[in-house]
Amino acid sequence: MTTTRFAPSPTGRLHVGNIRTALHNWFLSRKSGGTFLLRIDDTDAERSKEEYVDAIRADLAWLGLEPNGEARQSDRLALYDEAFEKLKAEGRVYPAYETARELELKRKIALGRGKPPIYDRAALALSEEERAAKEADGVTPHWRLRLDHDSPIQWGDGVRGTVKFDPATLSDPVIRRADGSWLYMLPSCVDDIDMGVTQVLRGEDHVSNTAVQVQMFEALGATPPAFAHEALLVGKEGKLSKRLGSLGCDAFREKGIEPEAVIALLARLGTSQPVEPIADREKLLDSFDLATFGRAPAKFDEAELERVNTAIVHQMPFSDVADRLPEGMDEAGWHAVQPNVSTVDEAQEWWRLVTGPVDAVDFSDEDRAYLSEAAQALEWGENPWGALTGKLKEATGRKGKALFLPLRQALTGMNHGPDMGELLPLIGEAEARGRLERAST
Ligand code: GLU
Repeated sequence: MTTTRFAPSPTGRLHVGNIRTALHNWFLSRKSGGTFLLRIDDTDAERSKEEYVDAIRADLAWLGLEPNGEARQSDRLALYDEAFEKLKAEGRVYPAYETARELELKRKIALGRGKPPIYDRAALALSEEERAAKEADGVTPHWRLRLDHDSPIQWGDGVRGTVKFDPATLSDPVIRRADGSWLYMLPSCVDDIDMGVTQVLRGEDHVSNTAVQVQMFEALGATPPAFAHEALLVGKEGKLSKRLGSLGCDAFREKGIEPEAVIALLARLGTSQPVEPIADREKLLDSFDLATFGRAPAKFDEAELERVNTAIVHQMPFSDVADRLPEGMDEAGWHAVQPNVSTVDEAQEWWRLVTGPVDAVDFSDEDRAYLSEAAQALEWGENPWGALTGKLKEATGRKGKALFLPLRQALTGMNHGPDMGELLPLIGEAEARGRLERAST
């Protein structure tokens, strides 16, 4: 059974890229009836905010991606200390004393010489006395993990295939700051081990972190989980866009986008499977397969989301939308307007045509006479629209637009709209006759 986790930092709202990662982790766990965990990565006490934790939970709930369990890194600091002490005792972490400026200088020098800016391990070469002297000077060290240069790094990535790294080409990562606070790397590994995470799926911006973490898992005596790194989401122009970084559930809701539309699009975007307006999540789940994920960035286009949304709204049964429809609108009402809306909220605008008052239209004398005839011909039965237009066609010889348009205009005040056959019974006999009569005078 698969255990996955979605591990956002509560330093902002979820954006469409995070949502996609959450969804794919949810799918991965559901595929095997496994467990999907929410891990709040809040080790950065200054930037983490409770309101964002709440918003993350609310967004996942809106999307229907509720986790089976939740943990917060700020509750688990003792575990990280323990792991740190173990690595320290084994000589896998070492204190380093360089300031940020010194490190920046080293980087620049390396780059200036045409070399990759890899940390030179100067701190590892310090003797006991040299360290003592630094500390006597009041310099508090930060801590680095010593990568094992003799142990090549390799994993079978669920999206990228075999990935290999020569550890000598990586800097020993800083895992703990001088003030004792944690960087992302070690807590994440400790949690993945402790929570029994079997599959880590995240963005490809984490590939080099994974390289380091593969050795970290091993240093902590654990087998690394399976890894998969999906290509990043970009704007439709193909660039990482600022807009995507701020586009999240609030913006979707505001535009009348249904969660199922977000899910249908993000399930397949960047895969070899076509994006389709599939509202049935089980169907999306069945077809979800990491092997179909491409290496090229996935292009997110808001217009595509709107198209998927419209198609999803056109499938939504009355029971799913009933509590969001205008007062008095029943199943027949939803059925009448559904093909004409692209969001559920738009039902309100069309419902106005039933409840009235409708806009007055300026008719020609000829049309007014026609409408007067229509008011008299109106008869209520199974299919009043069919009966009315049938009668009028015969009596007046009108057909097509000349037959239908004045009626629609008189009855709704508009040139287009929902099917009149469905709308007329909703308007009701007396009201319909009244509208026709008013239009004819
Ligand atoms: N908090 C990290 C992030 O948001 C988690 C990465 C991971 O999935 O391990 O990038």
